[in-house]
Order: sequence, then C-alpha cells, then structure tokens
Amino acid sequence: VVEKGTPSRSVVTTCAYCGVGCSFRAEMQGDEVVRMVPWKDGGANEGHSCVKGRFAFGYATHRDRQTEPMIREKITDPWRKVSWDEAISFAAGRLKDVQAKYGKGSIGGITSSRCTNEEVYVVQKMIRAAFGTNNVDTCARVCHSPTGYGLKTTFGTSAGTQNFKSVEKSDVILLIGANPTDAHPVFGSRLKKRLREGARLIVLDPRRIDLVKSPHIRAAHHIQLRPSTNVAVMNALAHVIVAEGLVDEDFVRERCDTEEFARWAAFVAEERNSPEAMAETIGAPAEDIRKAARLFATGGNGAIYYGLGVTEHSQGSTMVMAMANLAMATGNIGREGVGVNPLRGQNNVQGSCDMGSFPHEFPGYRHVGDDSVRGLFEQDWGVSLLNEPGLRIPNMFAAAIDGSFRGMFVQGEDIAQSDPNTQHVEEALKSLDCLIVQDLFLNETAAFAHVFLPGTSFLEKDGTFTNAERRINRVRPVMKEKSGLSEWEAVCRLASEMGYPMTYAGSHEIMDEIARLTPAFAGVSHARLDAGEQLQWPVNEAFPNGSPVMHVDGFVRGKGLFMVTEYVPTSERSTRMYPLILTTGRILSQYNVGAQTRRTENNRWHGEDILEIHPFDAEERGIADGDMVSLASRMGATTLRAEVSGRMPQGVVYTTFHHPLTGANVITTDNSDWATNCPEYKVTAVQVHRSNRP
Ligand code: SF4
Repeated sequence: VVEKGTPSRSVVTTCAYCGVGCSFRAEMQGDEVVRMVPWKDGGANEGHSCVKGRFAFGYATHRDRQTEPMIREKITDPWRKVSWDEAISFAAGRLKDVQAKYGKGSIGGITSSRCTNEEVYVVQKMIRAAFGTNNVDTCARVCHSPTGYGLKTTFGTSAGTQNFKSVEKSDVILLIGANPTDAHPVFGSRLKKRLREGARLIVLDPRRIDLVKSPHIRAAHHIQLRPSTNVAVMNALAHVIVAEGLVDEDFVRERCDTEEFARWAAFVAEERNSPEAMAETIGAPAEDIRKAARLFATGGNGAIYYGLGVTEHSQGSTMVMAMANLAMATGNIGREGVGVNPLRGQNNVQGSCDMGSFPHEFPGYRHVGDDSVRGLFEQDWGVSLLNEPGLRIPNMFAAAIDGSFRGMFVQGEDIAQSDPNTQHVEEALKSLDCLIVQDLFLNETAAFAHVFLPGTSFLEKDGTFTNAERRINRVRPVMKEKSGLSEWEAVCRLASEMGYPMTYAGSHEIMDEIARLTPAFAGVSHARLDAGEQLQWPVNEAFPNGSPVMHVDGFVRGKGLFMVTEYVPTSERSTRMYPLILTTGRILSQYNVGAQTRRTENNRWHGEDILEIHPFDAEERGIADGDMVSLASRMGATTLRAEVSGRMPQGVVYTTFHHPLTGANVITTDNSDWATNCPEYKVTAVQVHRSNRP
C-alpha cells in the first residue's frame, strides 16, 4: 500500500517503535519515503522486520502533524501560531514567573523514550542546569523502572545482560509476562527459530499467548498464573531448586555474595514457599511448577526474557530481583545463551534511562548525592547542581494538585493518555500555570498545554537510540525537520532563554559530551557508528569494542547479590462488585497509545481495542462474541467490543490500550511498584456487562 516508485537515494536509520531497534534503509524519492527496507547489516535485526517498522512510517507526513510553534494564555483559549522566537520567549517567561512566585522546585519535566539519546540528554541537562532542579523523570517510570532498580541492586547495572543473538545458544527459555510475537516481533522470530531447533520453553503468563502453542512450537510448561502472583511463582521455582539440590554451587561460591545467598536460600526453602503451599494462590498445579523448576535448573543454558507483565505490578522491582536470584542460583549469567533480559517496550527506553532521566541520577545511573560525580558535572556544565533527588512523575502530579508544582516540560509523551488514573492526571495538568508540550501531534496532553513546540519524527532526527540489548544505533535524518528546528536545538534555545546558555554544533557534539561524562559511553561517538561499528555499552577502556554479554568475569557490582523476595499480595482484589481481573497488553500492528500507528495503514488491522473474555465468564453475563460491553472499575468506566476467547483463564479479562476512545487508563488504579512507583497496569478489579451501545 505504501510502497511506490523507484528510489533516488537511501539512508540507513533505526525503527522508532519497539526496543528491538531494527535497522532500515529508507528509500527516498526526493523528500518522500517510498519504502523501508530492513537492513541486513543491522545488528539487532540482520535483515528482518515487522509490520510496524516496515509499513507504519506514514505518520511522519500525516496531515495531523503540527509544524509550527503555538502558544495561548489559558487552556480555554484558541492556539495562536507564532515564530520559534516568540514561543521560546513566552515559554521561558512563564517558567521564570512561576519560579519567581513559587521557587525553583516548582517546575520540572519529563523526557521521552521515543526521542534520541542526544535529545533526552539535553532535556535533563536543561532541567538540572537551567531550571535548577532535579525534577526530571522519564516515561520509563511507567514501564521499565523496576528493571533498572532490580538489576542494579542484584547485578550492579540497570540493563539486560545479553545481546539478542545470544538466544541462539539457549536451551531453556523462561518467558515471563511478555508476548514477543506481538510486541517484539523480530526478536519473537529469533526466539521461534530457536524453539523450532529444540530449545524448551516455559511460559509464565495469565493469557495463553501464541508461543504456548503454535505451528511446530509447544511450550514445555505454561504456568497460567493469576495476575499479580509472579513473585509467588518465582519463590516456588526457587524452593524446588534449593530443596532438590539443583543450585549451581560453584557459580554461587565464586561469583556471588555467599552470606546473602544463604539468607535467600533459607527463605525460599521455607515450606510456605513450596509449590504445594503456593499453588492455590498462583492458580496453577504444583506439579507443573516443580517440573518447570527442574527443567530450568538442569536443561542446559537457561535464559529469562520478560516484559511489562513483570514490571507493571506493585511488586515489579521484587520480581526483577527474583528473576536475578533464579539466574544466579542456576549459574545462568555471564555467557551466551543465558541471562536476564528485559524486552523493552519503546525504542529508546534503555537510552532515556542511561541519559540521566531519573530525579536521583545523573547520566550513567550515578546518584546526584555523590559529591565526586556531581562535581564532575558541575565543572563540565559550569553551574552548581542540587544534591537532593527531585520529584518522580506521580509526585509531580500530586504536587501540581497541591499547588506547589506549577510548570512542566513534556517531551514526546502523551501522559494524559498513557499514565494511570486519567482523571487524576488531568486534574494535575489543569492545575499547571505553564505546560509545554513538545510533540508531533496535538495529543491529549496538549489539551492542557500553554505552549506547543513541534517535534520531529524519527525520519527527521539525527542521533542515536539504544535498544534493549544496549546496542547504540544511529538514527539519521532522511528529510529536513518539518518545523525548521531539531528538538535538541529547541531545548537548547529554551535553556538559553532561561539564562543558561546551551549550544552545540550538532548532535554529534552532544554525544561527545555524553561520552566525556558517562563511563559506559566513554568510547562511543557518531564517527565510530558511522564507520559501521556495532557498539553495545559499556564501551570504554575495559571494553573498547563494547559488551554484547555483560557480567562475564564478574558482576558490575562485584559479587552478585541475592535478595529475599517476600511475596506480598496486591491490594487490588476482585470482589462481588468487581469480580474479574483486567490485565493489558499489545497487538502486533499497533503501538502503545497508537499516536503513530493509528495514523498509518496499520490501523486497518486493529481499528479498536477488544476485550478478551473467557467463554464461561461471557456466558454468565449473556455476552456473545462481538457484543459491546461496559468495563468498569472503582476508578472509571469505558465501553468496548468483546471477543469470547479460550486464551483467557476464567476470572481474567484482557485488553489493549492503543485507542484513546477506549481509554483503558480511565479504569486502571493508582497502585504502583513499592520501589519505583511504576503503575500496576496489569491488575485491575473490574465488572463487565453487556452494553446496549451498538
Ligand atoms: Fe520496529 Fe520493533 Fe518491528 Fe523491529 S521488531 S521493525 S524495532 S517495531
């Protein structure tokens, strides 16, 4: 549908959808992309692609694109198109007014995992150096922040351990809360190939995803757990491994903190953590859990891959640490074919976190309270920096409603649609004196904005994305910025107008600064990437050519740290009023809140969000396949179409969140991960009724 004509030139760049980070050759006719051809030399995809990267790029030239800056006094006023100068001056004036009235800490901002490393870096620098606050957070807060916390605690670094290719050496794959054939299709294909070659698969998921049973593939075990019982399952698996003497004693003795191992082993060995004791809680037979544990511990190279079904829980961080425990106990770290591997949702989740987007960390995950690190940034940036962490996104919302947080810069993130409890988010946004949105479209968040700064699509960007395997991929412009200004330049101009001059000759200079200040990026430059080098961080003196596999000779933190992972049930329970549990996920052709894919031909394949419901639950409610149903929680209600589906266990319903009209986040709760505040999107008690709406 989108392929046409003979190209006159081509540019190699990186897909801007999921965290696989596939490379493409954009074939052009003048300024128009005629096709995206998967690039065979792309380290992450080796010539493969999916329907999103291949076909869903038309949003870049969609008529909804906003290409001129706009301002307005009040959010009820119409937008007024203005020059860049006027928009920047208006935005800086408002922010300065807010700070004069309410103090420096009354403003802050959010970086985007859709933007390049260079764009994210300048936003966090602007907030710390020009705004004078650490009130910076990232949209990764709502997806993989528990990955960062859990892996840093146990292994010493906030990143997955392997390259994708490593799966070709795996013998047993434990797939938890992830549906890679829909959400990470190119990695999903690699995984399927390995399974067809004979690797064994264990799936932990409430839903029967395609990989449980598809042509030529059948999972050895599908533990169809109740939503929110991940940690209980991991403790039960660990119980079997410890009780049956399946621990890799040599690995633990040589590589791990043995005192903490002993504490953990004693904990999981308690009878209350056995599969038999936990079976009812988990909702799966104890014998299945026992067999799965034995297979993972004794089946050869064991690799764990996981998605948001792990992190978006009140125990998301605990679960990440539980997976790390299991990998260390079985000696499955530090070589090809093993490891703990997050399948990152967005193209640059890894990078946005690496670039210092958290309120407590400078680039490279170093605490703002560390005097020597802060001193390094103060010297390089020529400004005093705060040593106290700033506000996280949920705290910004709460402070906005309280009245102490009044101004916000939002980079490429539709928080009004993507964050939980929409009503609460909208109340917070309405309370702001100055909301600046930098985006491609006038999204739901922009409805509350005073300044709109037009952003650039991936086809206009010049920089890098870092994928889920820490691979730093070049993003090259195939067309000029439609707004006339790159996003990083707009941010630099805003910082300068705020009184802190920020200038770079190009995005390569931003990367040079990142490399100068961030040890894991010390050897990274656009020049090396443009020369065709494939670099996975850390890239530094110790690893001059990068690190496809981490923790090979030792953990980054020294000894691997076992953490006791007590299972704590979520406070969100089904009741007589709300008897079903809703969980959420993605579909192949759409992406996240759909801002891009809904504006492409892909929308024809999945034009609405669907509620999957078990046949028994449907029959009990008089619901037939295709009926419209109302879905309500304690927080709110929405209406969508039902699909009666044997994929679901009884008592659990499932939907996607790609369409704003459905607004699944209207009904999700305020619960969040205890360590990182990542929302508990995956567990909401709901009632479902047949709707009279056609
Ligand atoms: Fe893009 Fe992910 Fe599809 Fe690759 S697998 S083409 S990165 S959406």
